[in-house]
This record gives sequence, C-alpha cells and structure tokens, in this order.
Amino acid sequence: MRAAVFGGPGVLELKEIPTPTAPDGGLLLRVGANTVCGTDLRILRGEKSAGIDVGVVLGHEIAGEVVEVGAGTVGYAEGDRIGLLPTVPCGRCAYCRRGRENLCSDSEIFGYRLNGGLAEYIEIPASAISRGGVGKVPSSVPFSSIALAEPLSCVLGASDSYGVNAGETVVILGAGPIGLLHAQVVRLAGATTVIVSDPSASRREVAEKLGATHTVDPTATDLREFVLGLTDGLGADLAIVAIGMPALFAQALGVVRKRGRVNAFAGFPKDGIAEIDPNLIHYGEITVTGASNSTRVDHERALKLIASGAIDVASLVTHEFTLDDVVEAIEFSASGEGIKISVSA
Ligand SMILES: [Zn+2]
Ligand SMILES: [Zn+2]
Repeated sequence: MRAAVFGGPGVLELKEIPTPTAPDGGLLLRVGANTVCGTDLRILRGEKSAGIDVGVVLGHEIAGEVVEVGAGTVGYAEGDRIGLLPTVPCGRCAYCRRGRENLCSDSEIFGYRLNGGLAEYIEIPASAISRGGVGKVPSSVPFSSIALAEPLSCVLGASDSYGVNAGETVVILGAGPIGLLHAQVVRLAGATTVIVSDPSASRREVAEKLGATHTVDPTATDLREFVLGLTDGLGADLAIVAIGMPALFAQALGVVRKRGRVNAFAGFPKDGIAEIDPNLIHYGEITVTGASNSTRVDHERALKLIASGAIDVASLVTHEFTLDDVVEAIEFSASGEGIKISVSA
C-alpha cells in the first residue's frame, strides 16, 4: 500500500510499504480520511521530536472503515465506520492511575509510534480496542468530519479545565481550526460574547459564521482596547491562546479581568519564550491552565457532537487532497491558506 513515511525532520516520503493485516483482537481499517494537523507540521519541521519514531507513517486525525476483523475481536464488523482516538494510554503509569490518561507517560500514539492514517490502510492493535479509543459512528457522517473528532476532543478536554459559564465573554486568539472549534464549544456552553482575533480576513469570516459575535484584525485594531470597550473597561472572563505564538500568551493575560482565566491551548515551538508581566497574574489573581491531548471520554463526546451536528466541523474542511499528493497537501497546510486539509486515498 501507499503510505506517507516520516524520514526525520524535513523528510516526508510517499512510499510503497506492505499492507498490514488485522492482528488478533484488533482490526484493519481502510482509511477514509486523515486530516492534517499543526502537530504534523511541527514534527516535520523538527519542532516536536519527543515520542516520534523515524520511519513511522504520519497522521493522527484518522477516520476509516473496518475491512478486516482480527481473530477474537469482539464488537466490530466489516463496514463499521470508525473514529479513532490516536492515543493508546498505558493504564498503569502515575498519570493513568490518577485518572489523567491524556498525560500518560507511556502511551502509544498513532502517527508518532504506531503507524498513522496518511496511508491506504491502518492496523489497529488489540490494545487500542481494549482501552476504548475505537469509536463507531453512523455511516451518514463523512470521514473528514469524523477525523476532526481528534482536535475537537482536545478542545473539549481543555474546556473542562478552563470552565466556561453561561453569559461569559471569551476572547480567542487565532481563528485556525482550533480557534474555530473553541468558538463553537464556548458558544454551545452559553458564552454570549465571543471575540475572535486573527489577521486573516477569510478566517475571520468563517469565525463569524461559526459563532464569533465579534472579530478583530489585531494588525489594525488594538485587541485590548477593543475588549475593554466591549466590557465596560473590565476585561474578558476567559482568553484562549489558539495559535502557537508565544507573544499571544502575554497578550491573553492583558485582555482578561481580575480573577479571569487564560488557557494556553496551542503547542508552542520548542524554545518559544514568552515575556509576561507576572503581576498581572499576582494582583489580578488570574488562573492559567494548559491543555494536552484528550481522554477517551472527550473523544466519545466529540464523536457525538459531530454526528449530531451540534458542532459544525464540515465547514472547517476547506481543501481535499489525494494520498498521491500528500507532500503537496502538507506544504499547502503549512501555507496557512486553507483551514483544514483532508487527505484520502
Ligand atoms: Zn492533531
Ligand atoms: Zn499511562
């Protein structure tokens, strides 16, 4: 089969590799779609190397269809449509024992260590099934939408820690796919004012369609002034950094009210340093939270929100590529022109 193999920083090759078979207790999926993620770009640029094996098939936002059921596998049949949680937590480490499997220190991740979804087929080991990360989805839901359950699950996990309340004002820095998912999730949770900041006019337009009540071009408008103007000089209740630019973290601290919350959602470059005024946190009693990966329950919730239509992920898929053009797809995704790029065989 054809697969996009990671050959070390800067190297991605479309190669012919042996087609896997369904292992005992596992499955073989035909990949229906794999959406490209900012993390894939960070891996390719060498900005993210921890836990990534050279020689692995990239791609961790995966949707597929069961084409072979392994011996002894229970609960799945040929033709089942599947949304895959890319992380297989170990279930034993200090974090798993504390119920924080998203921080598992010994997890196996599709597209990092286990072969990922930028291929024609993907092998699902028994461990992924027994840990509950292989979800069935109605066949009416498009594959590219199902693949976006992965980023949505991460956004849902983060929303549990930043805790949005009905009637709140939220600022989202960045209208990439992640910012656009946060905008929808906070609206669904009852936020009444959602301000999305992004220099791209086309992305701001999508943000307005997907739940932003206000959008700001930060190169033309002072975001802080804008937020203060909308909140009687108080500031927002919550700010979410949805683009991995360290300077945005300092900006987020400056737009929330006292006792407000800031969520550092995006992954920042390895040596990215943000200069902040710590007194904003000290005197303002601001709560800062992070976000890393998602749990199986987050993923189950994401699949339900997508299948029910409560969250619109289809509008995020602006470009589709075939696997033969996978290198071009990744380069295009790096250009920042589209929102979400889907690759299918
Ligand atoms: Zn991702
Ligand atoms: Zn673990």
